[in-house]
Amino acid sequence: MKVYKFGGASLQTAASIRNLVSILQKYPADVVVVSAMNKMTNAFEELVDSYFHHRPDMQEKFNIIKDYHRTIARELFTDHSQATGDLEKLFSTIEERMQKVPFVNYDKTYDQLVPYGEKLSSTILYHHLKQEGFNCRWLDATELIHTDANFREARLEDKKTRESLDKTLQQDGLKLTQGFIGGCKEGYMTTLGREGSDYTAALIAAFTGAEDVTIWKDVPGLLNADPRYFEQTEILSHISYHEAVELAFYGAKVIHPKTIKPLQNYHIPMYVRSFLEPEKPGSLIDSSTEWDDNITSYIVKRNQVLLTLQTMDFSFMAEDHLHHLYGIFNKLGIKLNLMQNSAITLSVCFDKEDEKLESLLRAVEKTHHFKYNEGLDLITLRHYSTEAIQRVTRNRKVLLDQRSRRTAQLVVY
Ligand code: ADP
Ligand code: ASP
Ligand code: MG
Repeated sequence: MKVYKFGGASLQTAASIRNLVSILQKYPADVVVVSAMNKMTNAFEELVDSYFHHRPDMQEKFNIIKDYHRTIARELFTDHSQATGDLEKLFSTIEERMQKVPFVNYDKTYDQLVPYGEKLSSTILYHHLKQEGFNCRWLDATELIHTDANFREARLEDKKTRESLDKTLQQDGLKLTQGFIGGCKEGYMTTLGREGSDYTAALIAAFTGAEDVTIWKDVPGLLNADPRYFEQTEILSHISYHEAVELAFYGAKVIHPKTIKPLQNYHIPMYVRSFLEPEKPGSLIDSSTEWDDNITSYIVKRNQVLLTLQTMDFSFMAEDHLHHLYGIFNKLGIKLNLMQNSAITLSVCFDKEDEKLESLLRAVEKTHHFKYNEGLDLITLRHYSTEAIQRVTRNRKVLLDQRSRRTAQLVVY
């Protein structure tokens, strides 16, 4: 069985949907997982915000979503086709939801609207595939991927998901479903965290023992740096799961960090290929570590805060004290990207979110002196060299520099 995942970038226009179908004609797959079209998840997030806060621009936000999908549908289908009917039905369901009072819980409210991005994109693709002669089934991921009710960061219910996948994916023909979304036993839709479609594809591949999984992107494969910010990039043609999970964790935005674990656990190879140049081999990620050291990779996380805490009473920043501080980070949902301690100080680097930073400072200010800088970049180099570090820090001020055997991390502004 072959599993494919197509993200928002491959689902932008009617032409890109036709391109995607031509890929499936040339390189057949058994399961296709799709994201919402283009930036539609952001559009749904704006809609949720407006709905939750009872703002007058709610209909305007919804119109943007409807217009986007209707424009594409008009190019692909006739006026009274079943596709158009199915899209309008989904719009009515969304409308009904928006007439109800939002849940008090923002995240729960979010999860009852945002998954429609994936439902709409997969409905359009489904009808176009049928039109092109594919034997295709549309599967609702909110009934296939079982999760807990931890809205917006839902965790998988392994056993139930495995059972439902076993039952459903045995059928013949092409199975089309949505990434990023699931459902909980309380009967609500859930989401797995932004950019979570890669993770869905990996789960499906792992639980069904697929031959491989391919993630189709707008880049030639996994590159040694984000081509949006670096001029000369090289393709990482073959790297290990370990290398891939490190790159994703440090912030290489091309694959979701949760994607690798299920693939490694079940030994499923993953390809990253270009939907713009589908004939090219792309990158392969599997258990082989042979090629990992060949190329230096650069990952930049922007908008970072570097906070240094110092104990007021000169007590050591020892295990018990660190335990206490890490408890606070955990409670506030602050994910540390880097940490370093001295006798009485702890420096931590994390993504800037104003509310979290304020809560953190309130929690520590009675017992710690603190200093922080904002607007920083955290640059990570895998398989670094002195020259590579010099290149990325030229004309910049380095506030923190941490190196292990394979990885150098620099906080700079
Ligand atoms: P989709 O949502 O369509 O699946 P994304 O936009 O999330 O795809 O991911 C593809 C983008 O990731 C590329 O356009 C590229 O700018 C960015 N990117 C960041 N780091 C890397 C990297 N190391 N290699 C390749 N692409 C990268
Ligand atoms: N549509 C979701 C998002 O944009 C999931 C994904 O694309 O992977 O975050
Ligand atoms: Mg994406």
